[in-house]
Amino acid sequence: MTDHVTTLSEILGPKGWLSGTDAEPYQRDWLNRYGVAPLGVARPANTAEAAAVVKACREAGVAVIPQGGNTGLCGGAVADQPNAVIVSLSRMTAIGEPNPESGSIAVDAGVVLAALHEALEPHGLMFPMHLGAEGSARIGGLIGTNAGGSQAFRYGMMQDLVLGLEVVTPDGMVWDGLRAVQKDNAGYQLRKLYCGAEGTLGIVTRAVLRLYPTPKQQTSALLVMSDFAAAVSFGVYLRGEAGEFLAGLEFFSDAGLALALKHLPDLAYQLESRGDVYLLVELASGSPRVPLDEILNSALEWGMEQGLVTDGALANSGAQRSQFWRLREEQPEGQRLEGEQLKHDISVPPGAIARFIKAGAEICGGILPGVRINPFGHLGDGNIHYNLSPPEGRADFDGKAGQFAEALTSLATEMGGSFAAEHGLGRAKIAMAEQNRGIVERELMARLKGAFDPQDTLNPGVLVHAPL
Ligand SMILES: Cc1cc2nc3c(=O)[nH]c(=O)nc-3n(C[C@H](O)[C@H](O)[C@H](O)COP(=O)(O)OP(=O)(O)OC[C@H]3O[C@@H](n4cnc5c(N)ncnc54)[C@H](O)[C@@H]3O)c2cc1C
Repeated sequence: MTDHVTTLSEILGPKGWLSGTDAEPYQRDWLNRYGVAPLGVARPANTAEAAAVVKACREAGVAVIPQGGNTGLCGGAVADQPNAVIVSLSRMTAIGEPNPESGSIAVDAGVVLAALHEALEPHGLMFPMHLGAEGSARIGGLIGTNAGGSQAFRYGMMQDLVLGLEVVTPDGMVWDGLRAVQKDNAGYQLRKLYCGAEGTLGIVTRAVLRLYPTPKQQTSALLVMSDFAAAVSFGVYLRGEAGEFLAGLEFFSDAGLALALKHLPDLAYQLESRGDVYLLVELASGSPRVPLDEILNSALEWGMEQGLVTDGALANSGAQRSQFWRLREEQPEGQRLEGEQLKHDISVPPGAIARFIKAGAEICGGILPGVRINPFGHLGDGNIHYNLSPPEGRADFDGKAGQFAEALTSLATEMGGSFAAEHGLGRAKIAMAEQNRGIVERELMARLKGAFDPQDTLNPGVLVHAPL
């Protein structure tokens, strides 16, 4: 193994190879549940170096773990055994010139999402992907997990926003698929296949992304809803009224708000009353002539008349809009700071959200009385982050994590939904996939992995157990 490490440090130079304590910051996942010390961390400066690293690791029988911002929630970006090298894309951060006529931009896989937003601002263009981890998550990781976020119901998930890709294959070849067109039916949709492959089929090194014009106006409101069913009904009404101008439809619970306010002292809640459920609504338009405030105000009036909305306010400034959004985006952080937690990344058909939350609460309360339930997420596409904290005064879940996961997965499946909505399977959910997805689906995935990576070099143990 010393020879292998020497080869890698020769390929990468001193800036590109980290070991010992220098490698520690890359070792554990965001939730601090997975990760052992790898042989080291490779930080290639370009695609050729990344390809040389993969080739050398494959020849030496060493596993390769691609890593972006390491904000993934299923443990897929860290090693589970020491005979592995983490390949961090953190040095590949070039952002090309945006092309406003074609609505596209080429970027390196290591670009942090927030940095891309910032770079696009002066051009009047936007990349419509927003999530709580955008200050750390990188383009390659977002592609690897096929990230969704708060605008997925309007603009799609990562696979809808990727036009072209450059990928280092598991045998160290480079696939140049850096095309910049939406329509390209020349065979299998490889670019889509890599979205959600979680680093098991190749390392994304560069991508061409789809851009949209920045809205010329937007209006946001924070609403207190009478219950989850009211939130769903109001969401349906608003979709009808606002149509294509609806750009955000997020929900969170009072349990989650309380945790965020408790642990993040700079957060502020500015409405007069509290309720069980909150909706964050945003309308946006590329035309300054569309009466967004009027549309939102009239929907609000309707919601109040119907008894669905009990309180609410339109943001009166950019600063207030950011505060409203932070209340939603800090939900994961508030709960993390509370201590032990169980995360369930569920999706159900949007009309079934309230039913899922109600039935889920009954089931979870039956498994462990007093368990604290904190559902939040994306109302527009039915994605519920159904997270649990132990009962007040307890530090753990009495060994019942598996029971919660099984019961909630069955419930989502019965309702036609998924147990892995937007975070992927990683290492955390392979067993769940084996229990809940049919043999044909699992076998097709294993065959795919076997065809691309017969030696199981890239991210072994993530997404599928082993190639056929
Ligand atoms: C506070 C918080 C909020 C979040 N909110 C959302 C949300 O709203 N929506 C959502 O979808 N997710 C959300 N996530 C999850 C996470 O941010 C996303 O999964 C994100 O896409 C991960 O990006 P990353 O760069 O951190 O990837 P990493 O964690 O580094 O990697 C994730 C996976 O992708 C693979 N990978 C990384 N880089 C590459 C590459 N270059 N080529 C191929 N594979 C690669 C890794 O091997 C791993 O399997 C949230 C996470 C946190 C902590």
